[in-house]
Amino acid sequence: MSQTEVSRIKTPLVPLATLIGRELRNEKVEKPFVKYGQAALAKKGEDYFLIKPDCQRIPGNPSTAFSVFAIFDGHNGISAAIFAKEHLLENVLSAIPQGANREKWLQALPRALVAGFVKTDIEFQQKGETSGTTVTFVVIDGWTVTVASVGDSRCILDTQGGVVSLLTVDHRLEENEEERERVTASGGEVGRLNVFGGNEVGPLRCWPGGLCLSRSIGDTDVGEYIVPIPHVKQVKLSNAGGRLIIASDGIWDALSSEMAAKSCRGLPAELAAKLVVKEALRSRGLKDDTTCLVVDIIPSEQPFLIPSTPRKKQNVLTSFFGKKYPNSLGKSANKLSAVGVVEELFEEGSAMLAERLGKDFPSDPNSGIFKCAVCQADQPPNENLSMNSGPFFSPSSKPWEGPFLCATCRKKKDAMEGKRPIKPTITV
Ligand SMILES: [Zn+2]
Repeated sequence: MSQTEVSRIKTPLVPLATLIGRELRNEKVEKPFVKYGQAALAKKGEDYFLIKPDCQRIPGNPSTAFSVFAIFDGHNGISAAIFAKEHLLENVLSAIPQGANREKWLQALPRALVAGFVKTDIEFQQKGETSGTTVTFVVIDGWTVTVASVGDSRCILDTQGGVVSLLTVDHRLEENEEERERVTASGGEVGRLNVFGGNEVGPLRCWPGGLCLSRSIGDTDVGEYIVPIPHVKQVKLSNAGGRLIIASDGIWDALSSEMAAKSCRGLPAELAAKLVVKEALRSRGLKDDTTCLVVDIIPSEQPFLIPSTPRKKQNVLTSFFGKKYPNSLGKSANKLSAVGVVEELFEEGSAMLAERLGKDFPSDPNSGIFKCAVCQADQPPNENLSMNSGPFFSPSSKPWEGPFLCATCRKKKDAMEGKRPIKPTITV
């Protein structure tokens, strides 16, 4: 038989059930173990955390399991931290289209995180309370880790070979020039506290309100330019695994990412979390609430992540392939994982809601019902529904094109962008 003839013979079709079965078995074999530990020392009692190792994309189907770990560092009270702990996960999940398979689910997650954070913020602000909270929210599905964050809690990744990377960005006005410019452009004032004699003290803060963060959930008494829109980063670990250290600023004010990773390498997660807290305390004393979660994503039922040195060849591959984007959850990702490289699937930190929700937001144009891209409430057709319509409508955009926002969420969007006067601040 010649080459041409061989290529003409068609492969017989494989029944869908067989394909799904294969995928499930592969996922099962490939799925890593997730082990975790937690430690905390309270000074003000405003740190909260969430550990949910047993979530399921399809309820009742264990092969669709994923886990969630989060830290909420509250300020000016605890109600925002508690509210976010109780509602954020549900708000994120409700923004993912129902029935999505694993790949679609992971692709929809970054956008759902944005919607969930903003929805939680709107709901909390409606309560009229003034506290606020940072959030570092981590979703682990197989080898894929997705981190969304506002504020100055941090999540680091320590991979085999001792490469430590930061999966969050710092939303402290002191550290983040881009955020200072954004806040100032939206009508906020950034400066230090003035004390007797006109001396300026402490970190840069935003006025009115005096908050030193540029993003948070809550903070009703601060300008709306302090936004709840998270920085989101999604990576796929190699099947050698990795360790996440998620902690509030009580840790990071005392330890660098490298110091924290080094202080607990080679130890089981539970002990590792305790050691990181102890190390932070040793160098700085208990100045703030200090909470630490350590999460190991490991290939087999071993007690902890075994540190090893990477082969030189792997570094060449990292720089050769560079960044990958959401569509790359397929074959190339698997190839890269096999050689021990952490692959970046997605990263976006813009504070502009329109840039974060995308145009292909799911809606059924035949049903005559549109879903708000943030709060998921059904909306009857209305020409002001599209994010592209209204007073800031640009001639190039189409008013019937998604994403769609309800009146409440649109008001929030405009306020965050400084497009309506900030409501009078609450003075105590
Ligand atoms: Zn809405």
